[in-house]
Order: sequence, then C-alpha cells, then structure tokens
Amino acid sequence: MSKVIIIGAGGVAGVTAKKCAQNDTVFSEVLIATRTVSKADKIVSEIHQYFPNSKTKFSTATIDADNVAALVGLIRDFGPEMVINLALPYQDLTIMDACLETGVHYLDTANYEPLDEAKFEYSWQWAYQHKFKEKGLMALLGCGFDPGATQAMTAYHAKHHFNEIEYLDIVDCNNGNHGKAFATNFNPEINIREITANGRYYQDGQWVETQPLELSQDIYYPNVATRKSFVLYHEELESLVKHFPSIKRARFWMTFGESYIKHLSVLEGIGMTSIEPIEIKGQQIAPIEFLKAVLPAPESLAANYTGQTCIGVQVKGVGKDGLPKVHFIYNVKDHADCYREVQAQAVSYTTGVPAMIGAMLMLEGTWKQAGVWNVEQLDPDPFFEAMNKWGLPLSELSGVELVKD
Ligand code: NDP
Repeated sequence: MSKVIIIGAGGVAGVTAKKCAQNDTVFSEVLIATRTVSKADKIVSEIHQYFPNSKTKFSTATIDADNVAALVGLIRDFGPEMVINLALPYQDLTIMDACLETGVHYLDTANYEPLDEAKFEYSWQWAYQHKFKEKGLMALLGCGFDPGATQAMTAYHAKHHFNEIEYLDIVDCNNGNHGKAFATNFNPEINIREITANGRYYQDGQWVETQPLELSQDIYYPNVATRKSFVLYHEELESLVKHFPSIKRARFWMTFGESYIKHLSVLEGIGMTSIEPIEIKGQQIAPIEFLKAVLPAPESLAANYTGQTCIGVQVKGVGKDGLPKVHFIYNVKDHADCYREVQAQAVSYTTGVPAMIGAMLMLEGTWKQAGVWNVEQLDPDPFFEAMNKWGLPLSELSGVELVKD
C-alpha cells in the first residue's frame, strides 16, 4: 500500500489517476497537485462517480512545479513514496531536484525540454545518475507509451526473439477521428514543437537529419489501416541506440492526416507556431502559447472520438536461432473503449496506463533500483504481463516486413 503524488491534471494524469483507483491494493493514497486545482478536483469527482468502490483515497492541491521550494514543501507535507510527473517536460528537473531533497522516487513520461528552445535530449536527466544512486532513489524516465512501452517492446524483442537487433522501426498510428478541423492529442505546445522540428534518425553510428515530415511511406497497421507515416525524431531513439549498440538503423514513424498537415503548415507559415515571445498590449507572449489557448484541450476530444491507435516496434536482425528474422510487437486501442472506461481518448490512455504500471513495478520492488533508468534497461516481462492485465494487450506478428527499408 503506497502513497503517491501525481503532478499535473491534464489528459494523461486523469487516466493514471483512474488506473490507480482501479489498482487500489497498490495505490492507497494519491494527491493530485497541479497549477489549476479545479482540473484536479474534476478528476477526483469523476473517480468518485465512476469508481465508487475504489479504496484509494484522493486529495488535490495547487502547485507551481517550476518552484523547487514549493514542491519540497508539498512533498514533505504529504509524505509520498514517489512522485509521478505528468506535468510538462519543462518541469522534469525541478521535480527531480525536489525528489532528491525529500528522498522520494520519481517517474515521468517525457524527457526534459528547455522552455526557450525546442530541443529534447536525455543528457540533462542522465546527469542526475549519481545523485539518485547515492541517495538510493530511483528515477524512471519516459514511462508512457512512446517513450515507454516502445522501449519495453524493444527489450522484449532482445530477450525473447533476437541475438542481435539491427534495424529498429517504431511506428505510431492514430487512425482516430475527433471531428475537429485541427486539434492535438496531447499538450498542443509539446506536440507542435515536436512535429515542426527537423526529423532525425540513426544510421551506422550517426544521426541523419531531415526536413520536417520529409520522409514518408505507407505502413500497414494490423487490424487498423494502411496509413502514410512520416519520420520524426523521438526521444527514445537516443537511449535505445545507446543501450542496444548492435542497432545499425533506428527510425520513428508517425501518421498525420492531410487536414492536420494542411492546418499546421498554414499556422507555421504565418508564425503561429513560433516559441519566440512577441509583445502584445505590453505582454510578452509566445505565439505557440496563444495557439494552445485557442485549441481544444486534449482531454476535451475524448467524448466523440472514434477509431483506433496502433503503436508498435518492428525489429529486423539475427534471431535466437542465428537466422535473419523480422518481428513486430504492437498494441491496438480503441478511442471509444477508452472513453467508456476512463472518460479519455486513446492517446492519453496509452500514456497514462504505462505510467501507472511503471509506478506499480517500482513501488512493489519489481523494478526498483537506485539511479536513473530508461525503460529498456529493466525486465520487460512483468511490464508486458501488467500491460495485458491493465488494458493495453500486446500482440506479435512474425515474418512480415511492415516497414520497408
Ligand atoms: P496537458 O497539457 O493535458 O496537461 C499538463 C498538465 O500539467 C496540466 O494540468 C497543467 O496545468 C500542468 N502543468 C503545466 N505546467 C505546470 C506547472 N508549472 N506546475 C504545475 N502543473 C503544471 O498534457 P498531457 O496530459 O497531454 O501530457 C502530459 C505529459 O505527458 C506531457 O509531458 C507530455 O509530453 C507527455 N506525453 C507522453 C507520451 C508518451 O507516450 N510518453 C504521449 C503523450 C504525452 P494547467 O492545466 O493548469 O496548465
């Protein structure tokens, strides 16, 4: 039985909190602390409405997670075993600092990104390795779906199917329809910063840079659809090529609809996606922050969302029998099913469930180890078992090359 703090009360935090409520033998008390406390209150009132039999005790608080002293005060008052950070990547380091100061474990779903530069890499968080180790604390980085489950899938490929992973392709398809002309499925600012940045993939020991959305191919997503998919840079590529040095090429593919790309290119063309603040009526404001304020909140898309997501990892390499092999591990999730279960769409669901599972595996001791860890460094088997149990069943397909060279 464990006490945890969830920081943030957006689409992902709502799912994680509700999964903690379902898993009340592990999560005895949860404090949801965020900038706008009314959002946390709404999650708790939905939990009371939809999960009336849960024994997990919930409370809420206001916090500015950019402020280490405020975080330290909050953590000391509540006395949790760990903090689950589901705010934005900008808050990762302040929350890690507060965890170190108060002696609690840490988990997040996205790696640190400075506010004034659209750049994300693990170096800032990996630099905390010895501090967490010295204190006997664990920080688990990027335990959502991608990053997160995709790294567990890679570790599972390595453990059960391959002697050598040579070619790695992570594929992320949202074949859903929310009925809006333009909206993002998770935090708009983070999402747009990711997509408008240059693409990047790993080849023969080097990073190859592309223009945004320059490389594409049609990929068949089993039981879902064939969709045009684009190469993006995604953070888990950095840790996967480090931890699996046999990898010759690693790429990340994501689907985008034509309407999404058309709207994004117009918004970009007129400067609305810029992160450079401009002055309006005496106030400094970045156009992308303004855009975020007028776009639908990710959690508001859930009620009318139809269709499915399919996220998976294809590996080509040398199989356990020493012969060439191609293998695909994936999950398909239906948006409407997610809404029925936890009043969320599948992008929030597929992120929030692995966060709950990662926290559970840490709290139960299965994954707990001192230091800073990426998901692929840990045993994938208990994670797979929990994914199957908690709503994200995994499937496997062998011998079919879904992503071409
Ligand atoms: P939302 O924008 O819906 O929610 C973010 C929450 O964080 C909001 O409640 C916001 O408060 C709160 N917040 C922001 N800044 C602060 C702050 N300084 N102090 C306290 N609270 C703050 O985002 P999502 O729920 O969609 O995403 C959450 C995280 O999950 C993001 O880091 C995102 O990158 C990551 N993610 C990871 C994925 C994966 O597969 N690994 C996939 C999708 C998302 P307020 O509402 O008041 O602004």
